[in-house]
Amino acid sequence: MGVWGREHSAMDELIKKAAADLAAARKVVALTGAGISIESGIPPFRGKGGLWERFDPMEVAHIDALMRDPVRVWNILVKEMKEIVDTARPNDGHKGLAKLEQMGKLKTIITQNIDGLHQAAGNTDVIEFHGSFARQRCMDCHKKYETLNVDLSEIPPRCGCGGILRPDAVFFGEMIPPEAMWRSRQAVSECDLMLVVGTSAVVQPAALMPVFAKETGARVVEINPERTPLTGEISDYLIRGKAGEVMNRILTEMDFVGE
Ligand SMILES: [Zn+2]
Repeated sequence: MGVWGREHSAMDELIKKAAADLAAARKVVALTGAGISIESGIPPFRGKGGLWERFDPMEVAHIDALMRDPVRVWNILVKEMKEIVDTARPNDGHKGLAKLEQMGKLKTIITQNIDGLHQAAGNTDVIEFHGSFARQRCMDCHKKYETLNVDLSEIPPRCGCGGILRPDAVFFGEMIPPEAMWRSRQAVSECDLMLVVGTSAVVQPAALMPVFAKETGARVVEINPERTPLTGEISDYLIRGKAGEVMNRILTEMDFVGE
């Protein structure tokens, strides 16, 4: 057997292992990041090809910039994000996690993403560390609107009360919502398997979640295109590949196991 054949069968073994681990698990928590949404056309913020290569986040995504000049932040960043988020659709990675919830395995998704695609796929318990660009909220009365329904004929768009709308997302200089923190800690403390999908988990507080999972005795299974700081340290194993493809293969294998 050649090198390719051996690599292929090593991958098959990992897919089987993940399917068996998921079949045996009772409470699964998923931690997701930008990597799961790339196949839906959502550009990452950080890294190569990321939005922060084109924009200085301190100029367009810092709370001080938003407060100082909301028109500018809307024109430079939020309009473009609205267009991206309005048209994006869940891919097989999101759909696979939704299927795991339907199967009664997956309880909670903790995400660093701001695109609302987990909810669009059908997951019902999604903790958003960085809030969401799929919602806007009034700076005055805090009423929330679906971004899709916000009319951009006037910038900045306004609430019925006259207040300016802003993304319901966490800007630089703002705190991670405390509720997201304690709810995720709670979910992780109860899980027996954590799926880490599409994130290298180097940004806090997401980076702590796999560590907490490990401390509670949960298995940590990574699905990422490349090795990450978790690999070989915190995660039990890494399945290297695109989130959608790997999720499809695991679910197919689970169907097979279930028959
Ligand atoms: Zn208002």
